[in-house]
Amino acid sequence: MAQQQGSISIHAQNIMPIIKRWLYSDKDIFIREMVSNGCDAITKRRMIAPAETDDYRVTVTLDAQKGELTFSDNGIGMTADEVERYINQVAFSGAEEFLKNYEGEDKGGIIGHFGLGFYSAFMVADRVTIETLSGSQGATPVRWVSEDGMAFTMEDGSRTQRGTDIILHISPEEKDFLEEYRVREVLRRYCGFMSTPVYFDVVKPQPEQKPEGEDKPQQPQGPERINATPALWLKAPKDCTEDEYKQFYREVFHTFEDPLFYVHLNVDYPFNLKGILYFPKITNDFGTREGEIKLFSGQVFVADNIKEVIPEFLMLLKGVIDCPDLPLNVSRSFLQNDGYVKKLSAYITRKVADRLTSLFHDERDAYQRYWDDIHPFVKYGCMRDAKFFDQVKDTLLFKTTKGEYMTLQEYLAKNEGALGKKVVYTNDPTRQAASVGLYDAENIDVAVMDTLIDLNFMSFMEYSAGVEGLTFLRVDAQTDSFTREANDDEKKQYEENEKALKELFAAATGQDDLSVKVAALKDSTLPAVLTQDEQGRRFGEMSRIYGQDFHMPQAHTLVLNADNAVVQSLLKLEPGHKRDLVAAQLYDLARMSTRPLEKEEVTAFLSRSQELLGMLFENP
Ligand code: ADP
Ligand code: MG
Repeated sequence: MAQQQGSISIHAQNIMPIIKRWLYSDKDIFIREMVSNGCDAITKRRMIAPAETDDYRVTVTLDAQKGELTFSDNGIGMTADEVERYINQVAFSGAEEFLKNYEGEDKGGIIGHFGLGFYSAFMVADRVTIETLSGSQGATPVRWVSEDGMAFTMEDGSRTQRGTDIILHISPEEKDFLEEYRVREVLRRYCGFMSTPVYFDVVKPQPEQKPEGEDKPQQPQGPERINATPALWLKAPKDCTEDEYKQFYREVFHTFEDPLFYVHLNVDYPFNLKGILYFPKITNDFGTREGEIKLFSGQVFVADNIKEVIPEFLMLLKGVIDCPDLPLNVSRSFLQNDGYVKKLSAYITRKVADRLTSLFHDERDAYQRYWDDIHPFVKYGCMRDAKFFDQVKDTLLFKTTKGEYMTLQEYLAKNEGALGKKVVYTNDPTRQAASVGLYDAENIDVAVMDTLIDLNFMSFMEYSAGVEGLTFLRVDAQTDSFTREANDDEKKQYEENEKALKELFAAATGQDDLSVKVAALKDSTLPAVLTQDEQGRRFGEMSRIYGQDFHMPQAHTLVLNADNAVVQSLLKLEPGHKRDLVAAQLYDLARMSTRPLEKEEVTAFLSRSQELLGMLFENP
């Protein structure tokens, strides 16, 4: 063939600069495009020559000295005609449309940058050479060279084996792509699960002269396999072993930990969706930890954490999702409104919910063991997705301070006699141990609600659980559950005492708005309890979390035990320093069982305690 020159498609001049600029943020993808073209060429060859047993592979060779990155395959190859047709003529038809549709859109919003294919090479190369030999009878090798993706030359090539080399001479501004670690990292990310073997080879620089006395030849390293781990998600779930799932998890997410459990997604109809989602051990509070869900399209990596496809709350999981039919050549806002994608996303959610409910029903023990790790995720999912909540609501557990796990129905059934439709909880079992103990004495279960999400979750449940009158109350919200019923005479007496005690405590503690109540607490050794209105407290906590500290006046009530000897004596004491001391001490003791004292409060408490001790031994 005589050397031939030409210019690629009429619009090339306009488009090439745009491609270069547009994809500035994500140049890595040219590697994916070159390698997947090689894989495609091999797939085609396999199809037309199924009996052949070639060692099919794509090899990426880095020669930093020459400034070249070469993508070689032993696939179908191209004739001169085919180069003309596939490279010179229609190459831009896809890209053109792509750019037309999304001109002006945020470039980060385009998901896969698919469709730019071969020409993405010009983002990083100042010269691209194709050396190709078709497998068809009588084909001759072809060489195609272009420096800018606009003008090219075509002539007879030198390739002797069927297949194609795409040689990129990397431009000086992009010499990052001549760094071994960089190329390897991108290859692993995008090509780690491709269907054809992919190898990476690095040409080590030849020393000009062998140093004196060193005649050992340099150890040739040989090509390294990039996609050694098979794509487990493609295997039928019934053929996968527990060990395979775990090993796959460790390899893909570079961890030594085991996942708690997993969901294998495998459907062909009504859409093609394969994948494995793992429930990781979430040790710290959710929200501080991002999951990692890798999206693939036909074993080619597209991107991490595409929230348009995977429901946001599932992002706490780790895993791989492969959707070959997903329209990736589109912007994210398009995906968000696409019916097909919505169905996919709903299906994924349903499968996760199914897995949870089947664990609950079939392996309750295991499910309970996982609960501590998965509950923030499950609760978050319930609040984010009504359908998910609907599916899992009867499998939600409440862990008690005794380490038991109960569903809401189980809790209510067991405690309904004492509590009605109330759930008593603690958000800090250690600090609130004294208050928890009061319920323990009554055999009432106390739920532990100590993660950040619980505050929202309880309000959500009160509203959505479908249980009329359901209320969550912190252990210090009321004293009814451990109060003895008083007779009418006693009640009258209590009312009188309340007035006197309110003044007494206001004077002793300086808290004018403190409300005081007298009641007969069953534990007569307990002088006083400080309660706090549940709704007001929750509101205060909520606004603190959202960074608006309203300094809500907290509705505290000091409940004094009418059956306690100290309280009874206090009422008889003459006004004066001693009475103030005892009152202030009682108040502090009650406070301390709900929260630790602050700095100045501690100082006051300590010196008061010392003074009270001293009083024990004066004036015997
Ligand atoms: P796509 O892969 O989506 O078709 P590309 O721009 O990546 O688009 O490639 C354009 C065409 O060039 C391919 O369809 C194929 O016909 C041809 N081609 C590219 N690379 C190779 C290769 N390594 N071997 C054979 N043909 C190739
Ligand atoms: Mg391609």
